[in-house]
Amino acid sequence: EAKSAGRAHYQLFDEQMQMQVLAQLRIENELHRALEQKEFRLFFQPIVAADTGKVVSVEALLRWQHPVKGLLSPVEFIPIAEESGLIVPIGTWVIEESCRLARHWGLLRDSHLPLGISVNLSPRQLLQSDLVDTVRRLFRTHSFDPRCIEFSFEVTETAVMIDPEAAAITLQALRDMGAYIAIDDFGTGYSSLAYLKQFPVDKLKIDRSFIMNISENEHDKAIVQAVTGLGHAMKLAVVAEGVETEAQAQVLRSLDVDLLQGYFYGRPQPEAQLESLLLKSLSQTTRDNK
Ligand code: C2E
Ligand code: MG
Ligand code: MG
Ligand code: MG
Repeated sequence: EAKSAGRAHYQLFDEQMQMQVLAQLRIENELHRALEQKEFRLFFQPIVAADTGKVVSVEALLRWQHPVKGLLSPVEFIPIAEESGLIVPIGTWVIEESCRLARHWGLLRDSHLPLGISVNLSPRQLLQSDLVDTVRRLFRTHSFDPRCIEFSFEVTETAVMIDPEAAAITLQALRDMGAYIAIDDFGTGYSSLAYLKQFPVDKLKIDRSFIMNISENEHDKAIVQAVTGLGHAMKLAVVAEGVETEAQAQVLRSLDVDLLQGYFYGRPQPEAQLESLLLKSLSQTTRDNK
């Protein structure tokens, strides 16, 4: 009896596996089509200076405008894109689209106040041998003025640690082209600041999980304080992710965090909406300077 129950269980497991594999294959096919049919969109989330609340940069966040399922979040398809390698052409599209907007938005700003634009790189992209050549080609084609635009790449500690030596070389090459490097979701991976010191890095983005309860939880507050202190000692700019309330923002300002990002300051939004936000903050700045 136990044996047949075991067999039934095994059969069920087998069927589930098959379904999963099929579902994955279907999404893979659809991702191919999405690239061809231009179904991907970039949304942009503002990042503000903690002291002034002004928009200083934006993070590009990928969406998939699926013809049947509607607007899909990257958590629903990036893992499959990553596994299948499709993240490489998709990621190239993301960088290219960001370069186009960097150039466009750079013109809106005056050179005293460069605007930053950040793009996420997945582990597979970071390990891709021609990433540096691709970026060089796109930077050349779109030739935006580095005095008006600061272009950053966001990578996670986990991605960097897969092949630290190769990652260090790639990150340095990107930096040599004038790009900045941010460590994303800091605190969720190896979180060895001592180790990070060996990498060409400019920014730390503290993961949302440490920010969520920061106005109640002394422990989280202590962690953010320590990370900020060490980050500053290493001359890194510190960004807090997932800021949703004024109370959180207040604590983060008191801890001397440099930049804040989260729904409290703005959700990820389409190009046109972000542009009007930028224009508003620009006219604000002009008025302040008078
Ligand atoms: P991430 O790079 O850490 O991006 C921040 C995520 O947190 C975004 O989710 C953003 O919408 C969300 N977020 C921002 N502020 C708040 C807040 O106040 N509260 C809450 N609850 N969430 C907030 P999103 O857009 O769903 O992206 C998820 C992840 O997908 C990103 O995490 C990034 O790892 C990945 N991703 C997004 N776009 C790309 C891309 O173009 N390429 C690659 N390789 N990965 C991407
Ligand atoms: Mg990011
Ligand atoms: Mg992040
Ligand atoms: Mg995150």
